[in-house]
Amino acid sequence: MQKGNIGVTTENIFPVIKKFLYSDHEIFLRELVSNAVDATQKLKTLASMGDFKGELGDLTIHVTLGKDTITVSDRGLGLTAEEIDKYINQIAFSGANDFLEKYKNDANAIIGHFGLGFYSAFMVAKKVEIVTRSYREDAQAVKWTCDGSPEFTIEDIEREGRGTDIILYVDDDCKEFLEEARISALLTKYCRFLPVPVAFGKKKEWKDGKQVETEEDNIINDVCPLWTRKPSELKDEDYQKFYRELYPMADEPLFWIHLNVDYPFHLTGILYFPKVKSNIELNRNKIQLYCNQVYVTDSVEGIVPDFLTLLHGVLDSPDIPLNVSRSYLQSDSNVKKISTYITKKVADRLQSIFKNDRKQFEDKWNDLKIFIDYGMLTQEDFYERAKEFALLTDTDGKHYTFEEYKTLIKDNQTDKNDTLVYLYASNKEEQYSYTEMAKNKGYNVLLMDGQLDIAVVSMLEQKLEKAHFARVDSDVIDRLIVKGEENPEAVSADEQDALSGIFKSQMPKMDKAEFMVSVQALGESATPVMITRSEYMRRMKEMANIQAGMSFYGEMPDMYNIVLNSDHTLVKDILADEERKCTPEVAPIKKEMDDVDARRKELRKQAEGKEMPEADKAEVEQLDKKWDELKAKKEAFFAGYASQNKVVRQLIDLALLQNGMLKGEALDAFVKRSIELIK
Ligand code: ADP
Repeated sequence: MQKGNIGVTTENIFPVIKKFLYSDHEIFLRELVSNAVDATQKLKTLASMGDFKGELGDLTIHVTLGKDTITVSDRGLGLTAEEIDKYINQIAFSGANDFLEKYKNDANAIIGHFGLGFYSAFMVAKKVEIVTRSYREDAQAVKWTCDGSPEFTIEDIEREGRGTDIILYVDDDCKEFLEEARISALLTKYCRFLPVPVAFGKKKEWKDGKQVETEEDNIINDVCPLWTRKPSELKDEDYQKFYRELYPMADEPLFWIHLNVDYPFHLTGILYFPKVKSNIELNRNKIQLYCNQVYVTDSVEGIVPDFLTLLHGVLDSPDIPLNVSRSYLQSDSNVKKISTYITKKVADRLQSIFKNDRKQFEDKWNDLKIFIDYGMLTQEDFYERAKEFALLTDTDGKHYTFEEYKTLIKDNQTDKNDTLVYLYASNKEEQYSYTEMAKNKGYNVLLMDGQLDIAVVSMLEQKLEKAHFARVDSDVIDRLIVKGEENPEAVSADEQDALSGIFKSQMPKMDKAEFMVSVQALGESATPVMITRSEYMRRMKEMANIQAGMSFYGEMPDMYNIVLNSDHTLVKDILADEERKCTPEVAPIKKEMDDVDARRKELRKQAEGKEMPEADKAEVEQLDKKWDELKAKKEAFFAGYASQNKVVRQLIDLALLQNGMLKGEALDAFVKRSIELIK
């Protein structure tokens, strides 16, 4: 028997491995099974080159659980004593402690850096044995034992066949790894697509109401997963079936892309466009990353562009450096190339479906939209491609490319400044009447009700030339797209003042909402009252909700315009009635207000360029007070009048109702009043 010390410069590396890699303990199994796979693959290669002439036989790798042990056995090339010394004993460490400290949360980095695969066994084992015999003729079988200190022993033993058993004596605090269910779950996670069969226990079947073991090995992996096969040999069903295996709970995927590159990097994989219901955040991290069929991670952040992390599927590449930190990944040239390549492939695929089967593309657009929007918003090169096939949908459900839509609305929706006005609704139901008004005018209205559409609207305004987006309820129809000169004032200043006073006094109190009243001549057949909401202010508020640093806008009240149609008989009647009932009272108040105003203007004028005498200052103060009082008196009078006028309240409520803004007590009052009115 021979004794020796493992070549590490750190006093004892194993406690370090254990401590730092605590959260990732489970990967020991991946490391040991993939070593077994490597040894098996190497033997196959030797055989195919004629360097190994013996029988390959059954090459299945076995994972077995004992009372205190986990054993991984292979029938690969095995090891000689010299090889153990070279590959296992002489692990060269330099600056091990520094490195471990830096990457303590990233087991992959540590394992990659040191070639520590085998030693990860010590994360769960207090003692490890290697029982092995090389494939070489007349090789001497050996057993290597190490109890977790840098000391090991190696001795000659008897062993019939070629291959290696790695036997782990599981540590007391890692007993969970002796549970069949745990190991089974780990094998499914890490070894599911390894290229050599891996057996864990025996297949079970139901007999007389209970599960019994059969004679047959329970093979846990698919040695030839779909992404390793030729796309030309595969049918749609194969892709759908594979998708169901990966995500048993998901809906059918929309499309898939089979990736297969050899140069200048190796990459294979299948990406699926899933059917997502909502909330894009929840669906990230569904892409699994493999390295030669060994599962590595399901976090592909930094490897594929952000918007593609919403896709599902698998990527397999030995060229993605896994032993580096995530921040370093983004600057790695291979990763950059891979990321660009994937973006391009995704765009190619979408473009080709769009071109060859536009109907299918349109049918699936609602589900696809979120990916494409997100891609266009975050990835310039993707926008450049997607602008050819991204679609706009109108309120009738018709789809158009950007170019097609421009052609459609160019003649009718260009304003006097030569700007193309894209009208849209963000809620088909709530903005129904506005949409109808626009349509009756011959305009087309887009439906922008997607999760990202607020941002998409801003993006398109920037990208498309001379384009402006306006929601259908942002102004009265004639001013949504201003084509000629503005209309002259519809009513006199006094009438405007009266209507404003009357209507404002009857607005129900609403939290964080402010109303302005304006009067416009909208034509006899148009609605008497409507509510509009400035595009600019509304958008600022919407952006504030989704962007940090804009909370100022978020705090502002919602501003609404009550637009009265001076051409409508109901409004005309109110004006005539008000004239009759209010003018006798209001006119003298107004006269007085004018006098007060004239006097204070006069005093201010006298004092221009010099200090105002104290007496005058006192008078101005008095006048200001007086003016405020008169104004309040006038408003109170209008309010008193308005409260008697059922038509005013009714008109306001109808306008609110049309906007879905009439709720609670106000709605109840409206219903009761309406019943009164029709009785
Ligand atoms: P890596 O696999 O990255 O080289 P490991 O520490 O996992 O690092 O393994 C070190 C070496 O030990 C391997 O390169 C291989 O030569 C040898 N080895 C490990 N496991 C086996 C095995 N099951 N059969 C044959 N050789 C093995």
